Amino acid sequence: MKTNSSAAKDARLLLILGDQLSLDISSLRAGKPDRDIVLMAEVQDEASYVPHHKKKIAFVFSAMRHFAAELEDAGWSVRYVKLDDPDNSGDLPGELARAVKDHGIDHVLMTEPGEFRLKAVLSDWSKDAKTELEMLDDDRFLASHAEFRDWAEGRKQLRMEYFYREMRRKTGLLMDGDAPEGGKWNFDSQNRKPAKSDLFMPRPRATEPDAITEEVLKLVEDRFDDNFGTLRPFWFGVTRADALKALTMFVEQALPRFGDYQDAMLEGEPFLYHSVLSLYINAGLLDPLETCERVAQAYHDGDAPLNAVEGYIRQIIGWREYMRGIYWHSGPEYTQQNFFGAKRPLPDFYWTGHTDMACMAAAIGQTKEEAYAHHIQRLMVTGNFAMLAGIDPHDVHEWYLAVYADAYEWVEAPNVIGMSQFADGGLLGSKPYAASGNYINKMSDHCANCSYDVKQKTGSDACPFNPLYWDFLLRNEEKLRGNPRLGQVYRTWDKMDEAKKKEYRDSARAVLDRL
Ligand SMILES: Cc1cc2nc3c(=O)[nH]c(=O)nc-3n(C[C@H](O)[C@H](O)[C@H](O)COP(=O)(O)OP(=O)(O)OC[C@H]3O[C@@H](n4cnc5c(N)ncnc54)[C@H](O)[C@@H]3O)c2cc1C
Ligand code: SF4
Repeated sequence: MKTNSSAAKDARLLLILGDQLSLDISSLRAGKPDRDIVLMAEVQDEASYVPHHKKKIAFVFSAMRHFAAELEDAGWSVRYVKLDDPDNSGDLPGELARAVKDHGIDHVLMTEPGEFRLKAVLSDWSKDAKTELEMLDDDRFLASHAEFRDWAEGRKQLRMEYFYREMRRKTGLLMDGDAPEGGKWNFDSQNRKPAKSDLFMPRPRATEPDAITEEVLKLVEDRFDDNFGTLRPFWFGVTRADALKALTMFVEQALPRFGDYQDAMLEGEPFLYHSVLSLYINAGLLDPLETCERVAQAYHDGDAPLNAVEGYIRQIIGWREYMRGIYWHSGPEYTQQNFFGAKRPLPDFYWTGHTDMACMAAAIGQTKEEAYAHHIQRLMVTGNFAMLAGIDPHDVHEWYLAVYADAYEWVEAPNVIGMSQFADGGLLGSKPYAASGNYINKMSDHCANCSYDVKQKTGSDACPFNPLYWDFLLRNEEKLRGNPRLGQVYRTWDKMDEAKKKEYRDSARAVLDRL
């Protein structure tokens, strides 16, 4: 821990959280290096509210330590509390209390935390400690809470596509006057190609651990050895400079094919043409708008096609912003939603990766290894299976929050509870992302290596996704039959003969009994 001198008379304590590692963040902009003291603390409470992946903990702590050094270089006084500091109280209120007392400060300033839980904890502390806590807007996002509320209020249905168009207009990204570049807002119809293993596969940029990261890796080995995931080799960048290099490498090597193969999955290729930048953007090492501007520039320079660039920008100014809007708009009870009343506990193989379903083993295996899986693996493999099998969405939510390096509740929960599990009953999406093995077979090469047969619909060799798909639709018929987007699916079921229907039900029961 550094800095324990008494502070200047009107000094304020600037609390910087582990996902607020931006020199331009609102709290730092409001502070003064020659007057205020920055507090950063690694605390057990935050490192263990879910059993985070080892790589995730190492990434956040190492990035925090590097950021603290950058702040000092920029002239700030930083009080940095390491996890193994003997005086560490173990939680943020405890660290605030110690800092306020040690420095004789009565005014704490911070950028709003990204989640309800922490916001409530810190606000409670402020009331109890009778210490002013000023929270500033997190303007690293394009849409403020008020802007999202204004957009959402009065609409019968919230749909990302319309919100996204507003964000395009607001930023001017890929706009040709008032019209979208290329005459269309969305080029997704070109973005659903399966990939082939003989394509050139770039790897995301790897950073060699320096002495600071090494110290953190040892700490994680000592304190979090039982947590999920593999720690080494640790290759994530931990500074803004590393993150900028990763962005450059993505734009030069992967972006041109990002669109075409965005939904593809390949055995042994965890990253394909994805950017693997979400962990840097979410922690504050990259700014979302600068990332999009860089990607748009590649299009204007003729280095990447419009379907790739539009698709990428939509993920950030569309989906990412929209998810954050939904999270704050829905309130803290959002993570408790359970539209289908699903009660089954999460199967153990989500933690071990030991399953004979090749697609699940690949997605969970690389999650253990890299704290990463790309969107379609999260949505159409592990998420789809959990929904079809009737796993309690809160268990599913806690798993996703723990296992990915980019997971923070504001973005994870709407993706899991809303998009992947449909547990919010359709606030976020118009129909559940439910699919049989056919979809996975179309978009991947996993089925060729699987002990199950994707073409078999029922029976002990049948791909488990096949009977579970129908069983899910039947279990939830009352809630889903009226959905206009599912009308055709139910009509197909209605036309099936009774013997076939029974086979589906019996096969699904057998799969569920094995979980
Ligand atoms: C069940 C489920 C859980 C998810 N949990 C998280 C999470 O905890 N944290 C997280 O950042 N993303 C989450 N996502 C969204 C998405 O899967 C990841 O952002 C993406 O896989 C990150 O990898 P990438 O950087 O290579 O992304 P790319 O495919 O290269 O996409 C570019 C960027 O777009 C943004 N993005 C893309 N899709 C989304 C989305 N649906 N929501 C928000 N941002 C998006 C990310 O910032 C990402 O870096 C989840 C999706 C699903 C279906
Ligand atoms: S057969 Fe089914 S379980 Fe096996 S890889 Fe294909 S979709 Fe997955």
